[in-house]
Amino acid sequence: SAFAALGLAEPLLRAVADLGFTQPTAVQQQAVPMAMGDTTGFNDLMVSSQTGSGKTAAFLLPVLHTLIRQQEANEAAERAERERLAAEAEARGEPAPKKPRRKDPTNPRHFKPAEPGALVLCPTRELAQQVAHDAIELVKHCRGLRIANVVGGMPYALQIAKLQNANLVVATPGRLLDLQRSMQLKLDKVRFLVVDEADRMLDLGFADDLAEIHDLTAQRQQTMMFSATFAPRIQQLALRVMREPKRIQI
Ligand code: AMP
Repeated sequence: SAFAALGLAEPLLRAVADLGFTQPTAVQQQAVPMAMGDTTGFNDLMVSSQTGSGKTAAFLLPVLHTLIRQQEANEAAERAERERLAAEAEARGEPAPKKPRRKDPTNPRHFKPAEPGALVLCPTRELAQQVAHDAIELVKHCRGLRIANVVGGMPYALQIAKLQNANLVVATPGRLLDLQRSMQLKLDKVRFLVVDEADRMLDLGFADDLAEIHDLTAQRQQTMMFSATFAPRIQQLALRVMREPKRIQI
Protein backbone atom coordinates (compact mmCIF):
# COMPACT_ATOMS: atom_id res chain seq x y z
CA SER A 1 0.00 0.00 0.00
CA ALA A 2 0.95 3.66 -0.06
CA PHE A 3 1.59 3.34 3.69
CA ALA A 4 4.18 0.61 3.06
CA ALA A 5 6.17 3.14 1.03
CA LEU A 6 6.55 5.19 4.23
CA GLY A 7 8.64 2.32 5.66
CA LEU A 8 6.38 1.56 8.64
CA ALA A 9 6.71 -1.68 10.61
CA GLU A 10 4.50 -4.49 9.39
CA PRO A 11 2.12 -4.67 12.43
CA LEU A 12 1.32 -0.99 11.89
CA LEU A 13 0.61 -1.55 8.18
CA ARG A 14 -1.83 -4.29 9.13
CA ALA A 15 -3.58 -2.03 11.67
CA VAL A 16 -3.84 0.81 9.15
CA ALA A 17 -5.34 -1.60 6.61
CA ASP A 18 -7.84 -2.85 9.23
CA LEU A 19 -8.91 0.76 9.82
CA GLY A 20 -9.59 1.07 6.09
CA PHE A 21 -6.94 3.73 5.49
CA THR A 22 -5.67 3.30 1.93
CA GLN A 23 -3.81 6.57 1.29
CA PRO A 24 -1.86 8.63 3.83
CA THR A 25 -3.37 12.09 4.27
CA ALA A 26 -1.25 15.14 3.35
CA VAL A 27 0.03 15.64 6.89
CA GLN A 28 0.85 11.93 7.24
CA GLN A 29 2.65 11.90 3.90
CA GLN A 30 4.92 14.72 5.07
CA ALA A 31 5.27 14.18 8.81
CA VAL A 32 5.73 10.39 9.02
CA PRO A 33 8.99 10.12 7.01
CA MET A 34 10.39 13.28 8.61
CA ALA A 35 9.63 12.02 12.10
CA MET A 36 11.17 8.58 11.58
CA GLY A 37 14.77 8.56 12.68
CA ASP A 38 17.77 7.85 10.49
CA THR A 39 21.46 7.31 11.21
CA THR A 40 21.84 10.97 12.14
CA GLY A 41 19.05 10.77 14.75
CA PHE A 42 15.58 12.27 14.93
CA ASN A 43 14.21 15.61 13.72
CA ASP A 44 12.11 17.81 15.95
CA LEU A 45 8.92 18.76 14.12
CA MET A 46 6.53 21.66 14.28
CA VAL A 47 3.36 20.90 12.35
CA SER A 48 0.37 23.11 11.71
CA SER A 49 -2.70 21.05 10.91
CA GLN A 50 -6.35 20.99 11.80
CA THR A 51 -8.46 18.34 13.45
CA GLY A 52 -9.73 16.03 10.72
CA SER A 53 -6.46 16.18 8.76
CA GLY A 54 -5.28 12.81 10.08
CA LYS A 55 -2.78 14.51 12.42
CA THR A 56 -3.21 11.93 15.19
CA ALA A 57 -1.91 9.06 13.07
CA ALA A 58 0.76 11.43 11.69
CA PHE A 59 2.45 11.51 15.12
CA LEU A 60 1.37 8.11 16.47
CA LEU A 61 2.66 6.08 13.51
CA PRO A 62 6.32 7.23 13.63
CA VAL A 63 6.46 7.05 17.44
CA LEU A 64 4.95 3.55 17.52
CA HIS A 65 7.23 2.48 14.66
CA THR A 66 10.31 3.49 16.67
CA LEU A 67 9.00 1.81 19.85
CA ILE A 68 8.44 -1.43 17.87
CA ARG A 69 11.99 -1.34 16.44
CA GLN A 70 13.48 -0.65 19.89
CA GLN A 71 11.47 -3.49 21.40
CA GLU A 72 12.68 -5.86 18.66
CA ALA A 73 16.28 -4.82 19.36
CA ASN A 74 15.82 -5.33 23.13
CA GLU A 75 14.28 -8.75 22.64
CA ALA A 76 17.11 -9.81 20.32
CA ALA A 77 19.68 -8.65 22.89
CA GLU A 78 17.91 -10.54 25.70
CA ARG A 79 17.71 -13.68 23.56
CA ALA A 80 21.42 -13.47 22.75
CA GLU A 81 22.23 -13.04 26.46
CA ARG A 82 20.09 -16.07 27.41
CA GLU A 83 21.81 -18.15 24.74
CA ARG A 84 25.22 -17.05 25.98
CA LEU A 85 24.35 -18.01 29.59
CA ALA A 86 22.91 -21.35 28.42
CA ALA A 87 26.10 -22.11 26.46
CA GLU A 88 28.25 -21.26 29.50
CA ALA A 89 26.12 -23.47 31.75
CA GLU A 90 26.34 -26.32 29.26
CA ALA A 91 30.13 -26.00 29.14
CA ARG A 92 30.15 -26.43 32.93
CA GLY A 93 27.77 -29.40 32.61
CA GLU A 94 24.93 -27.54 34.36
CA PRO A 95 21.31 -27.19 33.23
CA ALA A 96 20.43 -24.01 31.30
CA PRO A 97 19.28 -21.14 33.57
CA LYS A 98 15.50 -20.60 33.60
CA LYS A 99 13.90 -17.63 31.88
CA PRO A 100 13.22 -15.04 34.60
CA ARG A 101 9.57 -15.01 35.63
CA ARG A 102 7.47 -11.95 34.99
CA LYS A 103 6.74 -9.83 38.03
CA ASP A 104 3.13 -9.68 39.14
CA PRO A 105 2.05 -6.01 38.70
CA THR A 106 -0.84 -6.40 41.19
CA ASN A 107 1.55 -7.41 43.98
CA PRO A 108 2.49 -4.22 45.91
CA ARG A 109 5.90 -5.75 46.76
CA HIS A 110 6.71 -5.73 43.06
CA PHE A 111 5.67 -2.11 42.58
CA LYS A 112 8.00 0.14 40.69
CA PRO A 113 7.12 3.43 39.03
CA ALA A 114 6.07 3.30 35.39
CA GLU A 115 8.78 4.47 32.98
CA PRO A 116 7.25 5.10 29.56
CA GLY A 117 9.45 5.64 26.51
CA ALA A 118 7.00 7.97 24.79
CA LEU A 119 4.59 10.63 25.96
CA VAL A 120 1.75 12.41 24.15
CA LEU A 121 0.34 15.51 25.87
CA CYS A 122 -3.18 16.68 25.08
CA PRO A 123 -5.01 19.77 26.36
CA THR A 124 -8.26 18.01 27.30
CA ARG A 125 -9.40 14.73 28.71
CA GLU A 126 -11.65 14.07 25.69
CA LEU A 127 -8.80 14.55 23.24
CA ALA A 128 -6.43 12.40 25.34
CA GLN A 129 -9.00 9.62 25.41
CA GLN A 130 -9.48 9.85 21.63
CA VAL A 131 -5.72 9.76 20.99
CA ALA A 132 -5.25 6.80 23.36
CA HIS A 133 -8.10 5.01 21.62
CA ASP A 134 -6.45 5.59 18.20
CA ALA A 135 -3.11 4.37 19.59
CA ILE A 136 -4.70 1.17 20.93
CA GLU A 137 -6.20 0.52 17.46
CA LEU A 138 -2.79 1.03 15.85
CA VAL A 139 -0.94 -1.38 18.20
CA LYS A 140 -3.49 -4.17 18.05
CA HIS A 141 -1.09 -6.38 16.05
CA CYS A 142 1.95 -5.51 18.21
CA ARG A 143 2.82 -7.99 20.90
CA GLY A 144 3.63 -6.37 24.23
CA LEU A 145 3.36 -2.68 23.32
CA ARG A 146 1.17 -1.04 25.94
CA ILE A 147 -0.71 2.26 25.89
CA ALA A 148 -1.90 4.05 29.04
CA ASN A 149 -4.24 6.99 29.36
CA VAL A 150 -3.64 9.45 32.20
CA VAL A 151 -6.40 12.05 32.62
CA GLY A 152 -8.13 13.83 35.48
CA GLY A 153 -11.40 12.42 36.76
CA MET A 154 -10.45 8.76 36.45
CA PRO A 155 -9.86 6.73 39.64
CA TYR A 156 -6.17 6.82 40.60
CA ALA A 157 -5.92 3.12 41.44
CA LEU A 158 -7.17 2.05 38.03
CA GLN A 159 -4.89 4.50 36.23
CA ILE A 160 -1.84 3.38 38.20
CA ALA A 161 -2.55 -0.30 37.50
CA LYS A 162 -2.78 0.43 33.77
CA LEU A 163 0.37 2.55 33.84
CA GLN A 164 2.56 -0.37 34.86
CA ASN A 165 4.58 -1.50 31.83
CA ALA A 166 3.11 1.23 29.60
CA ASN A 167 5.38 2.09 26.67
CA LEU A 168 3.34 5.08 25.51
CA VAL A 169 1.41 7.36 27.85
CA VAL A 170 -1.26 9.74 26.55
CA ALA A 171 -1.94 12.36 29.19
CA THR A 172 -3.26 15.73 30.18
CA PRO A 173 -0.46 17.74 31.85
CA GLY A 174 -2.05 18.23 35.30
CA ARG A 175 -2.75 14.58 36.07
CA LEU A 176 0.58 13.51 34.58
CA LEU A 177 2.46 15.81 36.99
CA ASP A 178 0.32 14.60 39.94
CA LEU A 179 1.42 11.01 39.24
CA GLN A 180 5.02 12.10 38.71
CA ARG A 181 5.09 13.97 42.03
CA SER A 182 3.57 11.03 43.90
CA MET A 183 6.30 8.86 42.32
CA GLN A 184 3.91 6.54 40.49
CA LEU A 185 5.52 7.59 37.24
CA LYS A 186 9.05 8.51 36.19
CA LEU A 187 9.66 10.59 33.10
CA ASP A 188 13.43 10.00 32.84
CA LYS A 189 13.05 7.36 30.12
CA VAL A 190 10.83 9.44 27.83
CA ARG A 191 12.60 9.57 24.45
CA PHE A 192 9.70 10.87 22.35
CA LEU A 193 7.47 13.76 23.35
CA VAL A 194 4.44 14.97 21.38
CA VAL A 195 2.50 18.12 22.26
CA ASP A 196 -0.87 17.91 20.54
CA GLU A 197 -2.99 21.06 19.99
CA ALA A 198 -0.29 23.30 21.44
CA ASP A 199 -2.41 26.42 20.88
CA ARG A 200 -5.25 25.07 23.04
CA MET A 201 -2.68 23.92 25.57
CA LEU A 202 -1.60 27.56 26.03
CA ASP A 203 -5.21 28.84 25.96
CA LEU A 204 -6.04 26.50 28.83
CA GLY A 205 -3.12 27.79 30.93
CA PHE A 206 -0.77 24.81 30.68
CA ALA A 207 2.39 26.83 29.87
CA ASP A 208 4.01 26.23 33.31
CA ASP A 209 3.10 22.53 33.31
CA LEU A 210 4.60 22.19 29.83
CA ALA A 211 7.81 23.87 31.00
CA GLU A 212 8.03 21.46 33.94
CA ILE A 213 7.43 18.40 31.74
CA HIS A 214 10.04 19.74 29.32
CA ASP A 215 12.60 19.81 32.19
CA LEU A 216 11.59 16.36 33.48
CA THR A 217 12.08 14.80 30.02
CA ALA A 218 15.44 16.41 29.31
CA GLN A 219 16.81 13.06 28.02
CA ARG A 220 14.42 12.94 25.09
CA GLN A 221 15.55 12.43 21.50
CA GLN A 222 12.62 13.99 19.72
CA THR A 223 9.87 16.54 20.28
CA MET A 224 6.93 17.12 17.96
CA MET A 225 4.48 19.97 18.33
CA PHE A 226 1.14 20.05 16.54
CA SER A 227 -0.93 23.21 16.49
CA ALA A 228 -3.75 24.71 14.43
CA THR A 229 -1.76 27.94 14.05
CA PHE A 230 1.83 29.19 14.19
CA ALA A 231 0.90 32.29 16.22
CA PRO A 232 3.94 34.08 17.75
CA ARG A 233 3.33 32.61 21.22
CA ILE A 234 3.37 29.10 19.69
CA GLN A 235 6.64 29.91 17.94
CA GLN A 236 8.11 31.06 21.26
CA LEU A 237 7.04 27.82 22.90
CA ALA A 238 8.51 25.88 19.98
CA LEU A 239 11.84 27.66 20.35
CA ARG A 240 11.89 26.83 24.05
CA VAL A 241 11.10 23.10 23.77
CA MET A 242 12.64 22.08 20.43
CA ARG A 243 15.99 22.04 18.64
CA GLU A 244 15.95 23.38 15.08
CA PRO A 245 12.48 22.02 14.37
CA LYS A 246 11.51 21.21 10.80
CA ARG A 247 8.29 22.91 9.83
CA ILE A 248 5.31 21.38 8.09
CA GLN A 249 2.41 23.58 7.11
CA ILE A 250 -0.68 21.87 5.69
P1 AMP B 1 -7.55 13.42 13.12
O1 AMP B 1 -7.22 14.62 12.28
O2 AMP B 1 -6.35 12.75 13.65
O3 AMP B 1 -8.53 13.77 14.20
O4 AMP B 1 -8.24 12.32 12.18
C1 AMP B 1 -9.51 12.54 11.59
C2 AMP B 1 -10.16 11.22 11.13
O5 AMP B 1 -9.51 10.75 9.95
C3 AMP B 1 -10.09 10.10 12.12
O6 AMP B 1 -11.39 9.55 12.25
C4 AMP B 1 -9.16 9.09 11.50
O7 AMP B 1 -9.54 7.78 11.82
C5 AMP B 1 -9.29 9.36 10.03
N1 AMP B 1 -8.05 9.08 9.26
C6 AMP B 1 -6.78 9.34 9.65
N2 AMP B 1 -5.90 9.00 8.68
C7 AMP B 1 -6.63 8.51 7.65
C8 AMP B 1 -6.28 7.98 6.35
N3 AMP B 1 -5.00 7.92 5.95
N4 AMP B 1 -7.28 7.56 5.56
C9 AMP B 1 -8.57 7.65 5.97
N5 AMP B 1 -8.95 8.13 7.16
C10 AMP B 1 -8.01 8.56 8.01
